[in-house]
Amino acid sequence: MSKTKATNYVTAGRSKKWTNGVVNPSVQRASTVVFNTVAEKQHAMINRTNQTLFYGRRGTQTHFALQDAMVELEGGAGCALYPCGTAAISNAILSFIETGDHILMVDTCYEPTRDFCDTMLKKLGVETTYYDPMLGAEIESLIQPNTKILFTESPGSITMEVQDIPTLSAIAHKHDIIVMLDNTWGAGVQFSPFDFGVDISIQAATKYIVGHSDVMLGTAVAREELWPQLREQSYLMGQCISPDDAYLALRGIRTLGVRLQQHQDASLEVAQWLAERPEVDHVRHPALDTCPGHEFFKRDFTGGNGLFSFVLKTSNTKATTALLDGMHHFSMGYSWGGFESLILANEPRSFNSLRTIANPNFEGTLIRLHIGLESVSDLIEDLEAGLQRYNTVLQEQEVAQA
Ligand SMILES: *Cc1c(COP(=O)(O)O)cnc(C)c1O
Repeated sequence: MSKTKATNYVTAGRSKKWTNGVVNPSVQRASTVVFNTVAEKQHAMINRTNQTLFYGRRGTQTHFALQDAMVELEGGAGCALYPCGTAAISNAILSFIETGDHILMVDTCYEPTRDFCDTMLKKLGVETTYYDPMLGAEIESLIQPNTKILFTESPGSITMEVQDIPTLSAIAHKHDIIVMLDNTWGAGVQFSPFDFGVDISIQAATKYIVGHSDVMLGTAVAREELWPQLREQSYLMGQCISPDDAYLALRGIRTLGVRLQQHQDASLEVAQWLAERPEVDHVRHPALDTCPGHEFFKRDFTGGNGLFSFVLKTSNTKATTALLDGMHHFSMGYSWGGFESLILANEPRSFNSLRTIANPNFEGTLIRLHIGLESVSDLIEDLEAGLQRYNTVLQEQEVAQA
């Protein structure tokens, strides 16, 4: 029987083993798992890494259902669960490095990923080289004999550069380097990591998998050869999540397809509207050709989502504050991927601390939007009024200067 992606969202992780005859798996809470015979206990011990109840930290049926679902969505051999996306990133890296190693980190990585490299990895004697997200085969010149991991994030945080993952992976594999991808933007489904040479696909499931801004959760899906090491090292570092959070992630997956479709359609409409505005210098939406790496988005992704950025022609704190302070449907807040719209502004100088080698070459304020599930016309009306407030401040300042 064929199974399309849309059907997969409904069925993923719902094997009878975990659902016991109802639609959803139960929330199975456990620390202690009890055995009545020595044989039962031995069986659990032998199969403890293989989705058999053994001890709470190894997971319960609710966790096993989510792990299965993630593998069915993303591919790979197994999924490790973490209390947030940041824990997934740091644990995936720590599971494969040792003192004296070197890692290649994309310059447009999520800010805490950079901080982790600059503090924790440095302390452990692991060297990080940041590389330009737009590098393709030229990445080879940055590889050292001790390079262990090539870390990618596509599109990049805030500035949205889409990377040429298959080219980067091919070069990395020539040198036995593990390719990790922060696949949060693609939600594990808009970009199929294992089809493009990724070895470990990491997500802040906090974002679209959970989808309702009410759970912190991280996932890392690994291909067969790396799965045991990722699983065991993360286990040693005590990584585990509550079954309630696993349950909410599974519930989120059921509507992931329809949510992404709506986020994607609405964000494209808003992005196209912004591109026509006189205040806007350019729009960094992967589906538009003004986004760096748009050609890789077209080639490798099956769809988008609600998160993108646009750059204003000027940088004026007072005008930007007037825009932000009066929004009705967009709130300012970190994270994204929920049903609600969000807005955040970055002044160009703030990139001086966020980037070391790929400092974006624009002059104006960058505004990142998450387009939620509200009506597009309401959102555009809100943005239009915001740009009007922005213009008013600029005009007042011009008059005052004249
Ligand atoms: C939010 C985010 C993370 C971190 O996830 P948390 O669950 O907040 O720790 C990592 N990578 C990207 C790209 C993110 O947007």
